[in-house]
Amino acid sequence: MADPAECTIKVMCRFRPLNSSEVTRGDKYIPKFQGEDTVVIAGKPYMFDRVFQSNTTQEQVYNACAQKIVKDVLEGYNGTIFAYGQTSSGKTHTMEGNLHDTDSMGIIPRIVQDIFNYIYSMDENLEFHIKVSYFEIYLDKIRDLLDGKTLIILTACSVFFFLKGCTERFVCSPDEVMDTIDEGKSNRHVAVTNMNEHSSRSHSIFLINVKQENTQTEQKLSGKLYLVDLAGSEKVSKTGAEGAVLDEAKNINKSLSSLGNVISALAEGTAYIPYRDSKMTRILQDSLGGNCRTTIVICCSPSSYNEAETKSTLMFGQRAK
Ligand code: ADP
Ligand code: MG
Repeated sequence: MADPAECTIKVMCRFRPLNSSEVTRGDKYIPKFQGEDTVVIAGKPYMFDRVFQSNTTQEQVYNACAQKIVKDVLEGYNGTIFAYGQTSSGKTHTMEGNLHDTDSMGIIPRIVQDIFNYIYSMDENLEFHIKVSYFEIYLDKIRDLLDGKTLIILTACSVFFFLKGCTERFVCSPDEVMDTIDEGKSNRHVAVTNMNEHSSRSHSIFLINVKQENTQTEQKLSGKLYLVDLAGSEKVSKTGAEGAVLDEAKNINKSLSSLGNVISALAEGTAYIPYRDSKMTRILQDSLGGNCRTTIVICCSPSSYNEAETKSTLMFGQRAK
């Protein structure tokens, strides 16, 4: 069994390259890198467990951010990997990338491959059950992306939380997992009018659950991994939002700041962890803190145009250290 006292939070920081419209606008490339763990913006250094420069490959990011967690999940730990950052900073590129291309695939498809490669390499006395769920949180509503239903969080003894009726899909190969993700994404597309806006305002959560049993010794192990592509962290004022859009933005700010509060409480080792403050932290409770591995990938734009947002993103990451 995993040791519940052992909890690690790692914060990684990734800068994407300047995109063509930033180059056309004449934006400057602002980050300066020092060693493997420090980035300097406007003379101020920010230190993380790792900093990835713009030319870092998807494979390098996977090796540093996820490979170890996958190993731990296969040993019975729970874990969560988050991508945090403003819209268009590279969160989805980091978490998913191109699901069907070996070079440009992101963290999720690489995790899936690693899990199945591990299973295929084990001896026949081990029986594995892999199931996945896929849902999103939008305006504090949780929607199952595999059947479109709204989900509610139930609690047992007000300590444990779980998602009532969440679809759990048993999967037997990496291809089946990719098909499930594609299915969830197409359900999401059908349900909304502007997919880009929607994805920047909702948190999407993919869950992989691994159960294994040794059929000879009857020893059981179970671990799960949440993979979270967070809503864009940008401030509302920049877009001058009103009405419904402003409500959305406030809601996102509130859920991201509760997440920040939970993670910094965990990092500081505080006795009281405010999991109850948002739906996301309630759902993730058993995979954040305690028996867990947590990695946050802070995603940043390198453009001078986004300097204020980039600084605020880096500050969020620093709070978790
Ligand atoms: P987000 O999910 O944070 O809104 P995306 O992941 O969709 O942002 O990235 C925005 C655009 O930038 C996409 O076209 C993506 O392919 C590209 N991009 C992001 N990160 C990188 C990177 N490290 N290298 C190359 N292109 C990237
Ligand atoms: Mg995205």
